[in-house]
Amino acid sequence: MRPVAYFYRSIAVGPILCVMLACSPKAATPPVSGSSQLPRDMSTYANIDIFITKHLVLDLTADFDSRTLHGTAELRLERRDPSATEVVLDSRDLDVRKIEASSDGAAWADATYRFDPATPAFGSALRVTVPPDADRVRITYATPPSAKGLQWLTPAQTSGKKQPFLFSQAQAIQARSFIPIQDTPAVRMTYDATIRVPKELVAVMAAEMTPGEKGSGVFHFHMPQPIPSYLIAIAIGDLAFQPMSERTGVWAEPAAIAAAAKEFEDTEQMIKTTEALYGPYRWGRYDLLVLPPSFPFGGMENPRVTFATPTVIVGDKSLVALVAHELAHSWSGNLVTNATWADFWLNEGFTTYLERRIVEAVYGKKLSDMERIIGLRDLGQARADLTVAGDRTLQPTLADRDPDDAYSVVPYELGALFLSFLEERFGRDTFDRFLRRWFDEHAFQSVTTAQFLEFLSKHLLSTKPGAVTDQEIQEWLHTESIPSFAVMPKSDALEKVERARDAWLRGESVEELVKTSSAWSTQEWVHFIDALPRKLDGDRLSTLDRRLKLTDSPNAEIAHVWFRLAIANRYTAAFPAMERYMIRIGRRKLIVPLYRDLATTTEGKALATRIYGKAREGYHPVAQSTVDGLLK
Ligand SMILES: [Zn+2]
Repeated sequence: MRPVAYFYRSIAVGPILCVMLACSPKAATPPVSGSSQLPRDMSTYANIDIFITKHLVLDLTADFDSRTLHGTAELRLERRDPSATEVVLDSRDLDVRKIEASSDGAAWADATYRFDPATPAFGSALRVTVPPDADRVRITYATPPSAKGLQWLTPAQTSGKKQPFLFSQAQAIQARSFIPIQDTPAVRMTYDATIRVPKELVAVMAAEMTPGEKGSGVFHFHMPQPIPSYLIAIAIGDLAFQPMSERTGVWAEPAAIAAAAKEFEDTEQMIKTTEALYGPYRWGRYDLLVLPPSFPFGGMENPRVTFATPTVIVGDKSLVALVAHELAHSWSGNLVTNATWADFWLNEGFTTYLERRIVEAVYGKKLSDMERIIGLRDLGQARADLTVAGDRTLQPTLADRDPDDAYSVVPYELGALFLSFLEERFGRDTFDRFLRRWFDEHAFQSVTTAQFLEFLSKHLLSTKPGAVTDQEIQEWLHTESIPSFAVMPKSDALEKVERARDAWLRGESVEELVKTSSAWSTQEWVHFIDALPRKLDGDRLSTLDRRLKLTDSPNAEIAHVWFRLAIANRYTAAFPAMERYMIRIGRRKLIVPLYRDLATTTEGKALATRIYGKAREGYHPVAQSTVDGLLK
């Protein structure tokens, strides 16, 4: 996933504390048999030591009137205990109507089942009693309209305004809100799916798509590579497709497709660049699906088809680092996957490092250096705001917590700094070969931090004894601050921006600034505005706005930092545009700080509450719960 604003989780929803041992997945899971090599994932109830899902078959109908997916999920299981008679699955608020079990897929018999009491963090364990020879279960069920992993949009919330839209977001543990499943990244499965939709809509899944006629209302998908549950994804809407190269293309609503294909036209080059560094792209196609603006994230690395926010389409490719990031997950994350959410840095730290290498190779060092500086700034802010000490380290403690509650940019940025440090100590070529070997030797596996450390020691540290000390490695893993021996990024371009800002603050005319900034990218503008004092002379602010058209910026990132400055300065001329922005966009990184800033004063909070009254319906459930928590 592309960094969501760190602050969301630190202030979100009020961590739901599950203090009684009885409500932790650890306690709900039957005793471990002892023979398994699987790591303990604290976020699942599934008894994965006894049954492992190898293949999933979905047959689901999307009903936009009732806002439900309903149908069947069949799990084909590998049995690790020949006498076991209970399969435990994860679920959250699912309406289960029938469960059957089978040993051959031909004869099915009704199975008894029960739910354990639900916990806010993890949902309910679904316990299915099966005969000792059964290795398949088939569940007939429906999702509730409020399913946490699904967002149902009305036509008004789309670009085309004519058809409704549905999309899923399963990471970290929301697959269980739309499929009864072993919802842990430690388990990988292939799947087949049949999705039935209203005839005028198109279904897209993160899988191979069997060519289907638009208008048939039935779509078939096949995922031949084994993936963890959090990478199952679906979108349904008035979707069109435009190819960009033989293996890349864009899905979007017809109104949005041309601009998206133009913005992302370098995707094939990015894939080739990444393949040259880290080995073959192993997923067949790589497409991008541009969602309506209410998508709460930047992007989600669903295999074969990245889901992306439209807010990165700004016309000058300055925000395509998002594509580099999601594409990089095809190696770090999707191919080699964190086995538990406490190992999240293996997904995101690696991906952030890879992202910047791709950006550097395709767009040059200037852009990648700016991204590194911005990442460092985000890291500093996150570390200052996080309230649970362990969350400032690479491996947060997750017992009894929804992984979302520990979410921050720390695993992204601190993890990337760790890898940059290793690169510096061993040289880029050596480190690239090491990373490629890591991906090759762990392809389609779920891995732990301990496994990485063992591999690191064997295949990198030992090649140059003394280049890195044990103590340094330990500091990277456990420190809450950036180690003093980290390799800190530097950006000449942003230093120039700072000089321009200082000159303007010293009284230089806005015309000088207009000249200096004529070729600035999004990052340079964001850096300029973000670092302006929170108290500025009203006239100068208004001149700046008039001359540079900041209130009306079509670039959502620039508008975001400008609105924050406007709130701090009570520059009310920007507020009507800000209100439209907050109603139109649902990406948490862009809206939550605005609500938070407004909520610091009584009048601001009143304004925020009024805007939210209009905007809430258009937000994703996860964005709603964040803002609900802020304004309550
Ligand atoms: Zn990511």
